[in-house]
Amino acid sequence: MNTRASAYRGRFAPSPTGELHFGSLVAALGSFLQARSRGGRWLVRIEDIDPPREVPGAAASQLKTLAEFGLTSDEPVLYQSQLGKGHLQALTALLQSGQAFHCACSRRELPDSGIYPGTCRNGLPTGRRARSVRARAKHQDISFIDGIQGPQSQNPGLQSGDFVIRRADGLIAYQLAVVVDDANAGITEVVRGADLIESTARQIQLYRYLGWPVPAYAHLPLIVDDNGEKLSKSSGSDPIRRYRHIIALRLALRALGHEPPAGHKSLDSILTWAQRRWQLERVPVGPSAIGVQPG
Ligand code: GLU
Repeated sequence: MNTRASAYRGRFAPSPTGELHFGSLVAALGSFLQARSRGGRWLVRIEDIDPPREVPGAAASQLKTLAEFGLTSDEPVLYQSQLGKGHLQALTALLQSGQAFHCACSRRELPDSGIYPGTCRNGLPTGRRARSVRARAKHQDISFIDGIQGPQSQNPGLQSGDFVIRRADGLIAYQLAVVVDDANAGITEVVRGADLIESTARQIQLYRYLGWPVPAYAHLPLIVDDNGEKLSKSSGSDPIRRYRHIIALRLALRALGHEPPAGHKSLDSILTWAQRRWQLERVPVGPSAIGVQPG
C-alpha cells in the first residue's frame, strides 16, 4: 500500500449561511476530486461558528444537496460549534506565548483601511477593557506555492495588521477556528475557493505560531456569471436551482476544466469519469464563467 497517497486528507467546510450555491458545489467537487485522485479521504465540516449569520436548516439542506450530487463525507460530519475546546486551547496557547494579545479597540476606532494600527500591541491603554483578541501579524512575506494559482507571497502585517482571533462578541474568529479544526482533522491539503486566498498567509502564520505542520493549498477559480459578476447566493442564474443536477454537475466540471464527454447519462458515471481524469494542472486559474447549459 502506498501510505503517502493514502494519508491524503482533504475537506469541504461550508458555512451554513444559506442553500448550497454553484460556487460551493464547485469548491466541494474540486476538493472531493482532488482527494479521490490522491487515494485520500474527503471530509465535510460544517462551519457553524457564527450563530448571527447562520440560517436555520441550512446545514441539513447543504448536506442533502451534496448527497444528491454523490458527495458524502468519508467520516462523520464535524460541526465546528462542537469543537470549541480545541479553539480555546489554541487561543490560550497563543496568549500565553505572547503571539496574541487583548485589544480594546472597537471597529469605529480603526482606520478606514481596516488595517490594525497596533494600538494595544504592547498592552491595553489605561482604563480600557479588553474586547477582542488579536494575533500578531508579522511584517514579513509569507510565501507558498498554490496548487492552482501558483507561487504566492503575502505580508500579513501590510495586508491586515494584527488580526482578530476572538471577536468582541466572544466568538472565535474564522481565521483561528479553521486552522485548529483542519490541524485536528489531519487535513493535508486545503482545496477551496479563490475568494479565501487572501486569508492563507494569516492562517500559515497561526500554524507556525502553534508549531503545527502547514497543509498544502490550492485555490479553485472564482465562479462568475455570464456578465463576469461574482455569483451571488440569491442569483436566479444559479445552475443548481435552474437545471437538473446532472447538468449542474457538468457545468461545475466544465468550470474546473474537466468537461465530461457527451454520453454519460448518470451522475455516478460522470463522477467516476472525473475521478479518473482529475488533474489539478487542468483547473483554470479563473475566474471561471458558469457557461451555458451544455448541449
Ligand atoms: N466556511 C468557509 C466558507 O464557507 C470556508 C472555509 C475554508 O474553506 O477555509 O466560506
